[in-house]
Amino acid sequence: CGIVGYVGGQSALDVVVAGLKRLEYRGYDSAGVAVLADGGLAAAKKAGKLVNLEKALLEAPLPAGSTGIGHTRWATHGGPTDDNAHPHLDNAGRVAVVHNGIIENFAALRAELAERGHQLASETDTEVVAHLLAECHSSAEDLAEAMRQVCRRLEGAFTLVAVHADEPDVVVGARRNSPLVVGVGEGEAFLASDVAAFIAHTRSAIELGQDQVVELRRDGVVVTDFDGAPAETRAYHVDWDA
Ligand code: GLU
Repeated sequence: CGIVGYVGGQSALDVVVAGLKRLEYRGYDSAGVAVLADGGLAAAKKAGKLVNLEKALLEAPLPAGSTGIGHTRWATHGGPTDDNAHPHLDNAGRVAVVHNGIIENFAALRAELAERGHQLASETDTEVVAHLLAECHSSAEDLAEAMRQVCRRLEGAFTLVAVHADEPDVVVGARRNSPLVVGVGEGEAFLASDVAAFIAHTRSAIELGQDQVVELRRDGVVVTDFDGAPAETRAYHVDWDA
């Protein structure tokens, strides 16, 4: 239901959790985060309110990192459990993805992945995306290209945001029939399903168009369509009060 991504000089976990709080008004049943740190990926997720996740993070802190993603879930496929909460990871634990919306063709993709030896750990439609991204990433030039390849195979409505441990300074997002906005700061950048998640940090925003993929780095963003062609975007200033 709510999505936040961050890359920059601050603690990604702090920025992401604060952003998720700003999106709480939308309602949700579980929450989770993933950060890239020390060459790896660490994640935590919990059913229930954000306080449950914050408590889990106090008991088992994640390593400090400056790239991260977070999610508040409103379950559509699979009950509101810890396992079904986002982020979802691939079997190697190198990719993490969060998702708003519904992947209509997930059952066929699950069956295909299971046949290729992937072990799925949740009942969600979302988890297939983590596994597909991991597969595509091994041959694609980077995570953004892997995301484009995966999106071309998905049916339904989605906002997707992903990170890969091999690309510690990158967050990639994609959207079809579901909102995704970029926030551009000084030496930092944000992705969210709603500008409310990042207006405490920047008022400079870019609205992604239909069927676009964004690669987010500290020093800028690159937006393409699902085929990799440069895409038109709309930059604007958020002038309403926080
Ligand atoms: N369909 C996904 C799930 O049930 C995402 C739900 C959402 O938009 O929060 O996990």
